[in-house]
Amino acid sequence: MATVLRNVRVFDGESFTEARDVALDGGLIVERAGPDADIVDGAGGYLVPGFIDCHIHLAGPHTQELLVAAGVTTALDMSSPAPLVNAMRGRAGVTDIRSAMMATTSPRSAHAERMKAIPAAQEALVTGPADAEAAVARRVDQGADYLKIVIDLPGFEQQDVDALVASAHARGLRTVAHASRWDAVAMAETAGIDVLTHAPLDRSIDDAQAARLAAAGTVIVPTLTMMKGIVERVNPAGGRGPTYAPAQESVRRLHAAGVPILAGTDANETPAAPASPAFGSSLHDELELLVEASLTPAEALRAATSVAAQHFGLDDRGAIAVGLRADLVLLGADPTVDIAATRSIRDVWLAGDRVPDQE
Ligand SMILES: [Zn+2]
Repeated sequence: MATVLRNVRVFDGESFTEARDVALDGGLIVERAGPDADIVDGAGGYLVPGFIDCHIHLAGPHTQELLVAAGVTTALDMSSPAPLVNAMRGRAGVTDIRSAMMATTSPRSAHAERMKAIPAAQEALVTGPADAEAAVARRVDQGADYLKIVIDLPGFEQQDVDALVASAHARGLRTVAHASRWDAVAMAETAGIDVLTHAPLDRSIDDAQAARLAAAGTVIVPTLTMMKGIVERVNPAGGRGPTYAPAQESVRRLHAAGVPILAGTDANETPAAPASPAFGSSLHDELELLVEASLTPAEALRAATSVAAQHFGLDDRGAIAVGLRADLVLLGADPTVDIAATRSIRDVWLAGDRVPDQE
């Protein structure tokens, strides 16, 4: 169905244009739609690319409904059994899913201990470097879009992570490391990881390390929503114990050093998870936390759109330009003035189709 969105201000990556028309046809943003196109009056609203949440864990089909209602048109799953991922990837008219399939971890890690009851988690355990090649090959056969490596310490040794990264890179897969402690970040850095996820709660990344990560082209999905959720759960009174400050400070230093920051929430409904951000709405929490951690509102919007697309190889989306997928969100207020305006959602289009209201 061809559509013309009339009278919309368009986010160009920095600010909003004057009100204009945007045409959609065949699932894409096009120069102009045919004469029989549906006309939608945008009433001067603010049009942004559909949001990309760079860290979720699928729970079931309702996951995609919650995500798309919140304007999240693409979500990157960071560990789920392959049959669940494949069932959800086949659904039309809902959030587009990419996945690591099950994350690899060491049988000695706390994650492995927590996942003992989950049969699918057992096939993802990597005991040593000799297992790395087969583990990566299994992910490729399952259709993984990237390799997720959970660096829980104690757990993996440096040589294990080195072997996993080398095997993944040999097959053209990006590598994503769960690193929620400072020493895990150091291990990931040494191994040449592509994407860090989480931000350490024990000690902030320092300026020298931030500069090295920037030079190496490493990017980070800090999941501040998750880090804040963990602190609120384990140290609710703010006494002795972990605080949120090191996570925020790491983002501030990485951002200042030029490390690309990507928006991701770690949304999940996993009973064993240390906290469970809600699907969809948590992306808007994350954008606010990124602004608190020194990103401008426009930078936060890019973290959830063009920068996310660029660093996960999603070349067909992440911006509003002719030829790209028509994943779009129409807002009632300007999020470059107040990032909380990303919540003022009037309408969502997914590959050119308007998503019906949930009520
Ligand atoms: Zn996660």
